[in-house]
Amino acid sequence: MKKIDIIIPCKNEETNINLIYNEIMKYEKDLNQVTETDLNFIFIDDGSTDNTANVIIELSSKNNNVKYIIFSKNFGKEPAIYAGLSKSNADFTVLIDSDMQDPPSLIVDMYKAMINENYDACGTRRKNRKGESVIRSMFSKLFYFIINKLSDVNIPDGMRDFCMMNNRFKNSIIEFKEKNRFFKGMFCSLGYKIKWFEYDNIIRNSGQSSWSFISLVKYALSAIMSFSNVPLLISSIFGIVFCIVSIIAMLFIVIRALIFGDRVVGWPSLVSIILFLSGLQFLFIGMIGLYVSKNYFEIKNRPLYLIMEEN
Ligand code: UDP
Ligand code: MG
Repeated sequence: MKKIDIIIPCKNEETNINLIYNEIMKYEKDLNQVTETDLNFIFIDDGSTDNTANVIIELSSKNNNVKYIIFSKNFGKEPAIYAGLSKSNADFTVLIDSDMQDPPSLIVDMYKAMINENYDACGTRRKNRKGESVIRSMFSKLFYFIINKLSDVNIPDGMRDFCMMNNRFKNSIIEFKEKNRFFKGMFCSLGYKIKWFEYDNIIRNSGQSSWSFISLVKYALSAIMSFSNVPLLISSIFGIVFCIVSIIAMLFIVIRALIFGDRVVGWPSLVSIILFLSGLQFLFIGMIGLYVSKNYFEIKNRPLYLIMEEN
């Protein structure tokens, strides 16, 4: 008998909880055909302001394969994922969104790959972004391009958090103790055997995405910083290049003054150069400041989340 835990982070998903539970339960039979399975659920209520927590508690009172964690407030999807993974004690752990954007039928295909082909994990990506705004998909493509160029980890464009992991894989992710978490990056950086599945983009069942444009930009920046030091390297390289250029410029000016005499010309170009360089300085100081603040955040070692209630 193999135990499978389905981890579902939820924020304001009152209309989706029962739906996702019932949809996944439809595949229990198919999973049992692969091996005898014990299918369990861990819902994490990430500080919902609607009735999500009560819906989860009610579902759990009717079905003894439903466990839950209710956070004291909204901590974010990454802490919710971490809480779910830490609570899971199954042979296989699935992570899925609650809004039906990830097709539950794939869980069966993933499970077959894990059992029959011996994969350590199965990941998913969407082939296209039908139904998503043009601006949002443009920025998300840019994000994948930058993070893949600047870091050692290679994250497939359009990767979803939807995945299945064996115990070794899940425990390795829990071993990543950083507070500034980026699940997709960790998933792709472990090096175990991963099988990838693709599907067309599906729009969310009901409710709305909790990500504003600003929160996505912050998430993207923090993901890049947690997997790459290249921005710091770029600022040092800029520093070196500008030092060399300024030495050459100084020599040029001294020699020109000696040969042609000193004429006060060129002040607009001087002002432009000063403005450009001070702009760059602010940019790089800001960037370094961001890394330092992330460091400060890690050192404080505050809890990633606080639990109000669990079963
Ligand atoms: N979610 C969460 N905490 C948050 C934001 C989102 O637990 O602070 C959950 C949400 O309920 C959903 C999943 O994470 O199950 C994906 O969120 P969403 O659909 O808003 O993101 P998108 O699909 O637009 O990337
Ligand atoms: Mg969604």
